[in-house]
Amino acid sequence: MERIVQQTDYDALSCKLAAISVGYLPSSLLQRLPADLAKKYVQWHRGYLVTLKKFCRRAFGKVDRAIRSSFPVMNYGTYLRTVGIDAAILDYLGVNEQVQVVNLGCGSDLRMLPLLEMFPHLTYVDIDYKDSVQVKNNVLRESEVLRTFLELPEKNTTPSPFLIDQRRYKLVACDLNDITETARLLDTCTNRDIPTVILSECLLCYMHENESQLLINMVLAKYAHGLWISYDPIGGSQPNDRFGTIMESNLKESRNLEMPTLMTYNSKEKYASRWSMALNVTVNDMWEVFNTEIPESERKRLRSLQFLDELEELKVMQSHYILMKAQW
Ligand code: SAM
Repeated sequence: MERIVQQTDYDALSCKLAAISVGYLPSSLLQRLPADLAKKYVQWHRGYLVTLKKFCRRAFGKVDRAIRSSFPVMNYGTYLRTVGIDAAILDYLGVNEQVQVVNLGCGSDLRMLPLLEMFPHLTYVDIDYKDSVQVKNNVLRESEVLRTFLELPEKNTTPSPFLIDQRRYKLVACDLNDITETARLLDTCTNRDIPTVILSECLLCYMHENESQLLINMVLAKYAHGLWISYDPIGGSQPNDRFGTIMESNLKESRNLEMPTLMTYNSKEKYASRWSMALNVTVNDMWEVFNTEIPESERKRLRSLQFLDELEELKVMQSHYILMKAQW
């Protein structure tokens, strides 16, 4: 099961690269990127994909095929997920001087690169299973454009418990189901006293109820102040809503993959109830995000990229993905 869950990272990477190749991302406006950084954003992602080919031909092939056959509804979804999360991080970084970001289940996500460039006091920790971070480590060190930006040597020569142990960026191997080890590692790579952004983007949906709750409780108790940003699918709670059950059976049938809590936390309210210890919790589905947070100029830009015929399909899908923000 662990291996199957790790492979989901290549779905996320395919979607991100497809959205970049058509022009949905980056959004200079909502990701607040100056022109030079928007250009680098594209270069970094292309560099990652090209280099991935050297280490993981199968994954490269899968991502490359998916990029060629992406649909507008998927690109809209990836766009909304990315700009929604980035806006939440940027708002928090904008009002707090010294902040650390911890990306749980980071996969191949590269959002640390623009953030490290934009916020000189930011420190950033990426955490995922050992096999996943090993691939990421190889790619970041091999790709010239990524290695140069992160000021990494090609080989890790300094002894460290982390795969990358830079002053401002750490790449850490950990099974987040192991709460004792996770707590121990967080103690060594983060500072409990500075404001902390915890990001879980399509992570908790693959964890079991007990393990994910222990993780949430441990993190909320560990850091004095923080913002947890979580993005996940929800199964749907209306009596005639079959989204979750269909998704569960499709995933099981096509790749033997499970989302253990999709139907347990099947509404926005149930999903957010896990952060009841936090002071201020907000949760929106992505259809709400689309309708309230994307200005008309951006919608016009999106419409110019691809013709979106399936508005009803977009609405159904995006009503079943949520963005939760819990501040404590
Ligand atoms: N967050 C990234 C993104 O959105 O681009 C990757 C999302 S991918 C769908 C899910 C990621 O969570 C995978 O990289 C997987 O290895 C990681 N993951 C799931 N369960 C984990 C666990 N128990 N410990 C560490 N990583 C885990």
